[in-house]
Amino acid sequence: MINITFPDGSVRQFDKGVSGLEIAKSLSNSLAREVLSVNVNDELWDLWRPINVDATIKLNKFDDPDGKHAFWHSSAHLMAEAIESLYPGTKFGIGPAIENGFYYDVDLGDEVVISDSDLPRIEKKMKDLVSQKNRYNRSEVSKAHALKFFGDKGDEYKTELIEDLEDGTISFYEQGNFTDLCRGPHLADTSPIKAIKLLSIAGAYWRGDESRKQLTRIYGVSFPKAKMLEEHLELLEQAKLRDHRKLGKELELFTFSKRVGPGLPLWLPKGAMLRERLENFLKKLQREQGYEPVITPHIGQKELWVTSGHYAKYGKDSFQPIKTPQEGEEFLLKPMNCPHHCEIYKSKPRSYRDLPVRYAEFGTVYRYEQSGELHGLTRVRGFTQDDAHIFCRPDQLKEEFLKVIDLILYIFKTLDFKDFITQVSLRDPDDKEKYIGTDENWDKAEQAILEAVKAKGMEVVVETGEAAFYGPKLDFIVRDALGRKWQLGTIQVDYNLPERFELEYIGSDNQKHRPVMIHRAPFGSMERFVAVLIEHTAGKFPLWLTPDQAVLLPISEKYHDYAEKVSNFLKNCDIRTLIDERNEKIGKKIRDNELKRIPYLLIIGEKEQESGTVSVRRQGEGDKGVMSMEEFASFLQSEVQNQLESI
Ligand SMILES: [Zn+2]
Ligand SMILES: [Zn+2]
Repeated sequence: MINITFPDGSVRQFDKGVSGLEIAKSLSNSLAREVLSVNVNDELWDLWRPINVDATIKLNKFDDPDGKHAFWHSSAHLMAEAIESLYPGTKFGIGPAIENGFYYDVDLGDEVVISDSDLPRIEKKMKDLVSQKNRYNRSEVSKAHALKFFGDKGDEYKTELIEDLEDGTISFYEQGNFTDLCRGPHLADTSPIKAIKLLSIAGAYWRGDESRKQLTRIYGVSFPKAKMLEEHLELLEQAKLRDHRKLGKELELFTFSKRVGPGLPLWLPKGAMLRERLENFLKKLQREQGYEPVITPHIGQKELWVTSGHYAKYGKDSFQPIKTPQEGEEFLLKPMNCPHHCEIYKSKPRSYRDLPVRYAEFGTVYRYEQSGELHGLTRVRGFTQDDAHIFCRPDQLKEEFLKVIDLILYIFKTLDFKDFITQVSLRDPDDKEKYIGTDENWDKAEQAILEAVKAKGMEVVVETGEAAFYGPKLDFIVRDALGRKWQLGTIQVDYNLPERFELEYIGSDNQKHRPVMIHRAPFGSMERFVAVLIEHTAGKFPLWLTPDQAVLLPISEKYHDYAEKVSNFLKNCDIRTLIDERNEKIGKKIRDNELKRIPYLLIIGEKEQESGTVSVRRQGEGDKGVMSMEEFASFLQSEVQNQLESI
């Protein structure tokens, strides 16, 4: 017998060789129907794999990320089986589970081109295969066998993958007539895959390398219940309506130009002003928190990036150095602002009493992304970080962290992101050589972050082993109105750059010491943040931020002069105001301006002109009654005030 420990700590005895599925069955039949994968001593396993020693287990259903992963990964194999039977001779790249579903990269050969209209046929074949209830069988194979199998099949993608694997670590999964190279784990059989939808087709370079063949990537999603699929598709519809690329165009916030180049956003006046308001908002908070502004150029000598280590990371795979008429002189577009800020720190000697030093800059950086990876404002080639670097003593780390957390929480509150989680990335304690910086400093920094997060009472996920080699970090992940997760703010401790740039301060002991560096960007980047904000609010920005706060709707031409007068008054009160002077019925004017997401609609006719008032409508809320110009101005201003309550 072996002892099996459950997540609640209870222990039960089972026969040696018992499987996860058998354990589930012994607990209840309904659990056995719903369970999708099992964690055995923190490793993800197939349900029918025999457990031979004492173990701690966790049974995963669909609501568990580990359960979903096995479900969607198994669905990818199922799709591959369907494709192979419909398009014999297809070669297969990779087919992983992703955050919302799965995909497979396939090479259908030069003769076959498929489009969206072929997806239902593949879907139908998948459903036929599901009804066969085929098991996902795992087998461990030698490298020679694996190479021969896929070599005989003529699948050069798989053989290329196998070449990189170590003999003795290779496994196959087989279901029905389909065999795949795969680490697993998978569902016990295909029967739980009740609802399937193939969503779209895209091109994807083999191994993400533009010089290699472009494969066909087919995206899909699947669920154990038809109703779950319906809900998911409804969410995708909602997401389409909120797509920032669509709304950005309709609201005239930004555009792209083929001539300027892909991934290089052009901010239109309304978008630029919105962004300026966000920047001013953050600048004010930063001033209150003791940040000092700095300004640095968009390029730097190649040597600078070699010193910082960024050249090794971004050099080859990003924009290539810019040459000058001077032989041997090379500059790099900056992928990061940090090295420039390090040089500013070095511009004069520092004492322990000068620290912390906090340098802030809305710094524009350039990173090459493949054209296929570009996406609206969320994946671009040039973007502006709301960047700052804090240089402090190790004993100041926790306080600085707390201050940055306050800043980020205030921003989230003001911009109505109520739902977020934080993720702390720590080093792997079993692999300490991997990291730069002393043991003592790492312990202190990790402790400081954990204490800071705890002090703020935030929901936190601790990821051990996920820290960068140069320091631990804290990330903020927000859930938007549709429940989608976006990574926004980040706070990162860095022991590496102070070392590389030989940053120093003179301590109270009159000795030289290294400061600790903190990188932080509450928005992440202006581009990404605005994109997320558009999708979160569906373009209905908070009143303080929105491009146009009020629009005047004269019911006929007779009232244009009065509208002009009201507009001038409101503009003098710093209220962003438009007049809709089109010769349209008032009903149409109201509808059109509501679509433009303008919060206040002010209707003006005979009655209003005579009494010096406006009839106020709030977008989505309807009539707010009649107010004098002055009353409306202070009504709007107090709403803005409330939104911007101080920290
Ligand atoms: Zn697989
Ligand atoms: Zn930085």
